[in-house]
Amino acid sequence: MAERASWSLGARLRNVFQARVIDEDTWDDLETALITADFGPDLTEEIVEHLQGEVERFRTTDPRDVQRMLREVIEERLSKYDPTLRLSERPAVVLVVGVNGVGKTTTIGKFARFLATYGRSVVVGAADTFRAAAVDQLATWAERAGAEVVRPEREGQDPAAVAFQTVERAKRDGIEIVLIDTAGRLQTKGGLMDELAKVRRVVEKQAPVAEVLLVLDATTGQNGLAQAQAFIEHAGVTGLVITKLDGSAKGGFVLNVQDRTGLPIKLIGQGEGINDLTGFTPHVFAQNLIG
Ligand code: GDP
Repeated sequence: MAERASWSLGARLRNVFQARVIDEDTWDDLETALITADFGPDLTEEIVEHLQGEVERFRTTDPRDVQRMLREVIEERLSKYDPTLRLSERPAVVLVVGVNGVGKTTTIGKFARFLATYGRSVVVGAADTFRAAAVDQLATWAERAGAEVVRPEREGQDPAAVAFQTVERAKRDGIEIVLIDTAGRLQTKGGLMDELAKVRRVVEKQAPVAEVLLVLDATTGQNGLAQAQAFIEHAGVTGLVITKLDGSAKGGFVLNVQDRTGLPIKLIGQGEGINDLTGFTPHVFAQNLIG
């Protein structure tokens, strides 16, 4: 994880934590920093009140205690959800869903690489069959990651057929993990949800679906979440991937999004390179956020 991430509050709060004593400015500055980082008014108020209570309870006047307590409360909130990826089935089938542009295809390429570095064999299915460019992009990334690719036979082929063939290939060749890219055209929401349901039905004829990962773009924050609501309601999502954290000042979104959706964050993307995807570790995230 980048040491000076754009979403880090450490730099913005340095003056607060290095001040001599805790006073009114401590709380004002902290509140402003949390709001700016997209914690939202409710969570900001909750956190500030909690910290004020702790400061009183421990009778401390040292702002560094506020920093430590803030880090702890953030880690505690993030840890309420289990970030473990369930990939023990063979094959383990992962559907990757989300609105176009959030970083789905890139995430699959990075994820293939991530799994390959752990010695897993991977096949990627390009079931977003209406975007020829997306298919090419996915194939390029998958090849770089050392994964196999199943491409549609023609543009617009039934995505469920591609998904079926991908799982079939995994079973035939003993490939451990199947990653399936899916369409994200919001204009046809009803149709898209039906399409995803069909992909799932067809996959399940051969193997259970191990994970359905919803990709969300951190730079769009709460708006992006509203756009993705249909997936949460209809696609059987089991976990979240937060992308583009590198370009985002919205570290607080990461904190809010689990509570808003009830879903665990399982992966985070922090860059356009093939190695810029990591698992989600609350302790590391809290450390990087607060310093
Ligand atoms: P899709 O339409 O959801 O499949 O999105 P793409 O995978 O095509 O990605 C859309 C754009 O976002 C591309 O320009 C990617 O390089 C970029 N992108 C994806 N993930 C990240 C990330 O973690 N950080 C940054 N900075 N850019 C990203």
